[in-house]
Amino acid sequence: MSEKFKAIVINQTSEQFSREIKTLDRSFFKAGNVLVKIDYSGLNYKDALILKNGGKLVKEYPHIPGIDFSGKIVESESPDFKPGEDVIVTGSRVGEIYPGGYSEFVKVKSELLVKKPKSISNKDAMGLGTAGFTSLLCAFAIKAREELLLGEKVNDVLVTGATGGVGCIAVMVLSKMGYKVTALTGKKDKEDFLKKLGASNVMDRKELDSDSRPLDKGLWDGVVDTVGGKILAKAISHTRPNGIVAACGLASDYKLNTTVMPFIIRGVKLWGIDSVMISKKRREFIWSQVSGLIDFNLLEKYTTTVNLEELLNIFPKILKGEISGRVLLDLNK
Ligand code: NDP
Repeated sequence: MSEKFKAIVINQTSEQFSREIKTLDRSFFKAGNVLVKIDYSGLNYKDALILKNGGKLVKEYPHIPGIDFSGKIVESESPDFKPGEDVIVTGSRVGEIYPGGYSEFVKVKSELLVKKPKSISNKDAMGLGTAGFTSLLCAFAIKAREELLLGEKVNDVLVTGATGGVGCIAVMVLSKMGYKVTALTGKKDKEDFLKKLGASNVMDRKELDSDSRPLDKGLWDGVVDTVGGKILAKAISHTRPNGIVAACGLASDYKLNTTVMPFIIRGVKLWGIDSVMISKKRREFIWSQVSGLIDFNLLEKYTTTVNLEELLNIFPKILKGEISGRVLLDLNK
């Protein structure tokens, strides 16, 4: 590699928090045994929190953010990875406690890397990124109803925060799995977008953003919830007997005020989704499934591709819920 490379660096001193594009050299990396030339990274909600003020997730400064990336191995001290191989990282606390993907190069521990399946490109991998990976974890949790409950079919599924990064890919994957998807959104003008992704119905967020009764009319066999709070409580109360609610996010609220009734009267299952602390085996399984469940041409239409400078301008929008689709960082742009 050339000794110098560009990266977004955030820094925290007693007076101020800063974020800027800097030219670094490899002495920046204090640990890791594999050097990767990054092709793509993504903008996720957590990235925006970190770019804003460290999000209480970053422990040491100066720091390179970016919780996911795809790229090519340049140097490896690990017997499991060779130079020239394409790799993916999502979650794994890169961009938090380890240097992340907003950089032309990064040095990481080999345990964090997953080999990219041949059926997708590095661009496809980060078109999905952590958001897409999380959507797939949620979708497989919903599908598990059919296996865990000995064949009880999933018919109707609700996705909340549907125009967001996790939500929109969940809509696509669940409809590809053959389910009838209701997309809940606060963005009235995005109905067409959600229908093109595969939603059968689009529902106004206001319809579920209110206090719930212990049990409401059963409407869905599965729910992918990215927002938490009142909407999650309401979605649980509307879940049909033996339905599965996959809760992964808190875009609205981290609190959950519900009762035990949906769990003990209807056998509803609340399934927490964490994309960070999961086994390599499950990561590899999810990546092995993406080519059959994602229409990458369609996804690309709803992806905004940015360079490092543009990323610094666009990131506050995700915190205001103003982004639909994915934001892809192209390190070669
Ligand atoms: P985005 O910001 O892209 O999407 C969130 C969506 O939620 C918005 O687009 C909006 O959709 C909706 N929304 C925003 N604000 C509110 C609000 N106040 N009330 C109700 N709905 C709201 O984020 P991501 O899709 O990247 O992430 C979604 C959530 O999932 C985040 O909380 C994130 O931290 C979490 N997450 C968790 C992971 C895990 O491992 N558990 C991994 C990845 C993400 P609309 O306008 O369509 O309603």
